[in-house]
Amino acid sequence: APTEGSVGFAVMGLGGYGIGKVLPALAAADRCHVAAVVSGNPEKAKKVAAAYGLSEDAIYSYEDFDRIAEDDRVEAVYNVLPTGLHLEWTEKSFAAGKHVLCEKPMAMSVAECEQMIAASEATNRKLMIAYRCHFEPFNLRAMELMREGAVGKIKHIETAQNYRMGPTSVSENWRVVRALAGGGPLEDYGIYGLQSALYLSGEMPVAVKAVTEQPANDPRFEQIFSTVTTDLRFPSGATARLFTSYDTAPGNNMARVDGEAGTLLMQPATGYGGHKMSLTRDGVTEDLNPGDPNVQFALQCDHLADAIRDGTEIITPGEMGLRDMALIEAIYRSAAEGREITL
Ligand code: NDP
Repeated sequence: APTEGSVGFAVMGLGGYGIGKVLPALAAADRCHVAAVVSGNPEKAKKVAAAYGLSEDAIYSYEDFDRIAEDDRVEAVYNVLPTGLHLEWTEKSFAAGKHVLCEKPMAMSVAECEQMIAASEATNRKLMIAYRCHFEPFNLRAMELMREGAVGKIKHIETAQNYRMGPTSVSENWRVVRALAGGGPLEDYGIYGLQSALYLSGEMPVAVKAVTEQPANDPRFEQIFSTVTTDLRFPSGATARLFTSYDTAPGNNMARVDGEAGTLLMQPATGYGGHKMSLTRDGVTEDLNPGDPNVQFALQCDHLADAIRDGTEIITPGEMGLRDMALIEAIYRSAAEGREITL
């Protein structure tokens, strides 16, 4: 049973991540609990509701969602829908008086992100983007080490987020549909490498140059890119190379920082668990194990609860999602125009 002051969340979109990670995270969180589900599939919703001890009047469909405004059990909506639906359902959640924790990527464009922030301000409800790595011990320790100068002056950052997507097509998988997924692997997976480059360097890039690939005659890549490779230049002179792809095996999830005095290697860097991290200085490599990555999911939910209950600042606000979307737009513009874009 929810404890005193716990924030009730409606989980919207009972897909792989909603069922696999979001619902268990809310159940494990200190200051949050599952209060409702929103789903287009009544049978699935019934099963999930039963598993989380919800009564049938805590099950919403997209059609009858608006009545959630009267449901005081629900204070926040966790939007776990395909990206192309984030704007519409975040706006509807705000209109119903709820706070929103929205999955990454925030939306399809800078314009959509701006609309979401405006809706949050107009309704005086909180907007947080689910950038879980900001709550994960390995990534938090890496940020701290870089701030402390653990590798000396940072010269170069390399990130890779790639795997080989099995056979699929636009009729069966929203991740390959441009209207729901944007350009594809960069928004879905490469965004972790982009974020890593920013929070490990502690800088925002001044220039971006990128190349995209879209193989012909492959049903997976009819509408989206298979691969995006991006070079960033930072004000300090440091550079970064970000590689992301749906068309490489066995796959990689890596971030590496090369400095004048050492190297930080995270591999896997940004997943759900199984993180590995090492710091090499003076020819000596030390393995670091700062904590259990699995705490990231619940801590992220509690962070929004803290903001709602205590008015604390959200460290992954809509503005951060907007910032990243502006970089993603610059990356695609650079690739389309075949030149470096100055930011
Ligand atoms: P899934 O396809 O597994 O689930 C999406 C769910 O959204 C569906 O099951 C469905 O739920 C609902 N939905 C409503 N309309 C549509 C539609 N037109 N097409 C498809 N689904 C629809 O996706 P994921 O759970 O993998 O991803 C959802 C979101 O979570 C995305 O924004 C993704 O980027 C993010 N994500 C984040 C991760 C992270 O580590 N932070 C990891 C994985 C995903 P229902 O039947 O209940 O209506």
